[in-house]
Order: sequence, then C-alpha cells, then structure tokens
Amino acid sequence: MELYSSKITKLIEELSSLPGIGAKSAQRLAFHIINMPKERAETLANTIVDARANIRYCQKCFTLTDDELCPICKSDRRDIHTIMVVENSRDLAAYEKTGKFEGLYHVLHGAISPMLGIGPNDIRLKELIQRLSVEDIDEVIIATNSSLEGETTAMYISKLIKPTGIKVSRIASGVPVGGDLEYIDEVTLLRALEGRVEL
Ligand code: ZN
Repeated sequence: MELYSSKITKLIEELSSLPGIGAKSAQRLAFHIINMPKERAETLANTIVDARANIRYCQKCFTLTDDELCPICKSDRRDIHTIMVVENSRDLAAYEKTGKFEGLYHVLHGAISPMLGIGPNDIRLKELIQRLSVEDIDEVIIATNSSLEGETTAMYISKLIKPTGIKVSRIASGVPVGGDLEYIDEVTLLRALEGRVEL
C-alpha cells in the first residue's frame, strides 16, 4: 500500500532527487508546498520553469546569466586585462562577494578528472584559450579548487598558457584541500587571492 496518494509520492520523489535533499526533507518540503496558498505554489513552479528556459551561458566568460553577456563582462568598471579562472558559477559568486577582485572571470564548468573520464574538451577550456588570443590579457589567475581535479586542471592550463607569455598565477593554498570554494569564508578567499604565486 502506498503511504500517500500517488501525486504526493511523485512530488516527494521529484524533490528527493535534488542534491542535498534526503527522504525526510523531501517529505517536509512536499507537505509545505501542498499547504501553500495556490498562487505561491504557482509562482514557485513558474519561477523554476522560467529560470530553466531563460538562463544561459555568458558568451564571454560562460557564467550563467539571462542575457548575452553577464553583468560583469558588460561592466566598464572591471580590469579587462586580468582573468580569474574558476570551476563554476558558484565559485565566481564566492569571489564576487569579497568585492575585492576587479578583473574578469572565466567559468570552466568542471575540472579535468581522468578518473571520471572528464578531459580538457569536456570543460570550457578551448573557450578560455580563444579569449586569450583575442583579448588583451596580462594575467590569468587560476582559482580552481585545491582538490586533485582542481590541481590537475590548474597544471594543464598553466602548461597551455605559459608559451603565450601571459603571466599565469595560482591562488595560494590556504584554501583547504578538497574544499569547495563556495563554502570558504571571504577572508580566506582574499588571502588566497593576495598570496597567489606565479606558475
Ligand atoms: Zn560574462
């Protein structure tokens, strides 16, 4: 016998398929949603559909945005000669929150992982190299995570860029090994940025 009606079960299943949502949380959320005023539930559902339909990659830095270019690439107040390479849009947001980095970003959407079969062509690396050939860049700061994948990616990128003569640096290790950048506090991020070393 099903514990709940099939529609509730379906909602619980959908919610529990989200990252970080276990069976209990999914149940709690499902009942919360069912008890919401109808308009609130509609707004929530429409917001999800609208976000999925309209959010795309910035044509320049590949972060998620709802326009051709993201607000950072569009801004005329950024230092357009420095690019910080990050693994994902959440890491970009973590650095933006410090308010101290004035350059541009490049979002790889992943990291090289031979173990998981993720190679250089599976992340936005070609796009970075392409940018370096058309933009006037003085320094590339590699801010991938300090995990094995992040370090592998950093080394790979540095080898690619070195011959171009563009300065390549790596954020200082102060960032805990394997730590996702988004969970690290702003002071630690700033220290990692300021203490970066040339590769
Ligand atoms: Zn952008």
